[in-house]
Amino acid sequence: MADYPSLHMIIDGENISGGGRRTFDVVNPVTGEQIGALPLAEAADLDRALEVAEKGFRIWRKSTPQERANVLQGAARLMIERKEDLARAATMEQGKPLAESRIEVMMNVGLFNFYAGEVFRLYGRELVRPDGMRSTVRHEPVGPVAAFAPWNFPLGNPGRKLGAPIAAGCSVILKSAEETPASALGVLQCLLDAGLPKEVAQAVFGVPDEVSRHLLGSPIIRKLSFTGSTVVGKHLVKLAAENMQRTTMELGGHGPVLVFGDADIDKALETAVGGKYRNCGQVCVSPTRFIVEESVFEKFRDGFIERARQVKVGDGLEEGTQMGPMANPRRPEAMDRLIGNAKDKGARLGTGGERIGNQGFFYAPSVLSEIPLDADIMTEEPFGPVALINPFKGEEEMIAEANRLPYGLAAYAWTGDAKRQQRLAAEIEAGMVGINSHMIGGADSPFGGVKWSGHGSEDGPEGVLACMVTKAVHEG
Ligand code: NAD
Repeated sequence: MADYPSLHMIIDGENISGGGRRTFDVVNPVTGEQIGALPLAEAADLDRALEVAEKGFRIWRKSTPQERANVLQGAARLMIERKEDLARAATMEQGKPLAESRIEVMMNVGLFNFYAGEVFRLYGRELVRPDGMRSTVRHEPVGPVAAFAPWNFPLGNPGRKLGAPIAAGCSVILKSAEETPASALGVLQCLLDAGLPKEVAQAVFGVPDEVSRHLLGSPIIRKLSFTGSTVVGKHLVKLAAENMQRTTMELGGHGPVLVFGDADIDKALETAVGGKYRNCGQVCVSPTRFIVEESVFEKFRDGFIERARQVKVGDGLEEGTQMGPMANPRRPEAMDRLIGNAKDKGARLGTGGERIGNQGFFYAPSVLSEIPLDADIMTEEPFGPVALINPFKGEEEMIAEANRLPYGLAAYAWTGDAKRQQRLAAEIEAGMVGINSHMIGGADSPFGGVKWSGHGSEDGPEGVLACMVTKAVHEG
């Protein structure tokens, strides 16, 4: 595609490509055709990036809050100026509607501006001690960070992975998904153009397993920040254990949505359908398992199916598209497998359940209901445009179903009963709970999960503190 950016790595501020390196074909999910060739790191590239990151940490750990704020605010301003180009590149390589890509740019702007304020509030504390003694507790940047970001939020994920370490005074080597490199490079370039020293943040791409083994195998790296699947997350935590690197793990989910008979059903439907098909359901906090009280089950299921059929699917670059193609060929394959298995087990397909057209990775907005709990889709994260709607008898049974899986990322509930809202907030095992709302994040709010959904938070003050260590100093 004519206006897709050229691709490279950024090591020590230098754009690296060619030189006989292997390449990865970046494709447009609308057509499945190649739009770019991404150079992949060799071991020597990674060694160079590590050496530079060590130097970058020595520089940036001494930066003042004002210097960090200037870079973060400057990058936020540049992202606004470059919004259309950034959003277009993200849509071309990932498929989501342009409007959603623009929102991602603005999420980064909000986060960088929030961190620009937060850097002034990284206070320590003084402890009360006998006269003549002074004891203080201070936060220090953890060190060079290895950050691995996935393809589903091609701009937002790199924004989180870069913003927090930079705010904390760390250096960072970013390996964003090979499928969506231009977005990540665009975000990093804004930081570099805003005055970030070139040693502080770098971007490499490669064979994921080679890159993670190489970087985590180095004692230079002091922290791993990963967003992706639980299975890969568990593997990376084991690698990080060898060098005792700290970890922030944002992993999979299977978002339960509890819908009670006393809820505003129309509002719940409007919100849930919009949330389900956003980014083709390829969202870790996607509403997925609809746990609906018997009394409103049929109304909710039928209303969902009706609305799902109206979602406009098409090329994300075209005006009016509400849902683009899936991001890569693995996703429609997973949909066919999971929906096929559910149907074989006796689930009812309300709509969708098939690919659209014969090019690219399009999949129809789908609704399954009355799904037996032993269907694979009731335990495996579908990560696609399918809603799973089942009836339940009452609050206790509904909470038990919400907590049944080992995941605990986002959960949602719809009820008009104030006491029940409090019980649900306390009882549901999740890192984020939305009650009568699916708005569960924000620059100032911690984002992260419990159980197999990972540990640690991004965003909020917690996001910066996760890139810092504490030191207690006692002076006699
Ligand atoms: P995957 O699990 O292999 O990859 C997920 C991400 O991890 C990709 O960005 C990939 O580049 C990276 N990755 C994989 N192996 C790695 C390694 N050894 N070292 C470092 N990074 C590695 O598979 P996929 O097909 O890309 O996605 C499948 C599943 O991943 C989805 O079904 C979903 O459950 C999960 N996923 C979750 C998120 C999220 O936001 N939590 C995002 C993308 C994918």
